Amino acid sequence: MTGETIMKKIILPAAVILIAAAIALFLLIRGAQKPETVQQPEIRNQETQTVPDASADVEGASAETAEKTEADAEDNAAETAEEQRENETKEQPFLIQITEDDPSIAYVLVRMQNSIGLLPLPLEGEYSRTLRQKMPDGSEYVNVLHLTPKGFLMEEANCEGHDCVNQGEVTLENREERILWNMVICLPHQVSAELITREEAEQMLQP
Ligand SMILES: [Zn+2]
Repeated sequence: MTGETIMKKIILPAAVILIAAAIALFLLIRGAQKPETVQQPEIRNQETQTVPDASADVEGASAETAEKTEADAEDNAAETAEEQRENETKEQPFLIQITEDDPSIAYVLVRMQNSIGLLPLPLEGEYSRTLRQKMPDGSEYVNVLHLTPKGFLMEEANCEGHDCVNQGEVTLENREERILWNMVICLPHQVSAELITREEAEQMLQP
């Protein structure tokens, strides 16, 4: 074989095969790398996406729990406030029946927008009773009655003008002479309180 024949018959095909092999190898490597180079960013994207998502979830969850605890705390606070109010409302008016063992000689008959009842004059000492009326707009009408063995007066009120507070004391002695007789009236709050004797109270309670 001549050198030329060797070139043509062995070296050229070998070169072609080598080149082809090199190309194939290149493609293989590229092919092998391709998914990696494609996958890696994907994974990273997923990671970068999932990581903030996860932390956002955690933050969101903790924020939610925080909100929940706050809400719960507020609920609890609201509940306790409501309970207190309910208790006050329960202890508000009051007597609706006079028992025989009740030693009171006189009562204050209290009329509010949604309730009515009696407060006994104390035999000794004195006490105040807060009347609360919750309005639909969320405001609260507050009137405080002060009772003594002799009578009562409107001690405090959050009404405009405080006319009820200025009406002074009603006693068993002065109740015939007062302009409003035995009554103290808070017009803006639609509250009236009148001093009545035990006899009058019993008559009123008769069916
Ligand atoms: Zn008033």
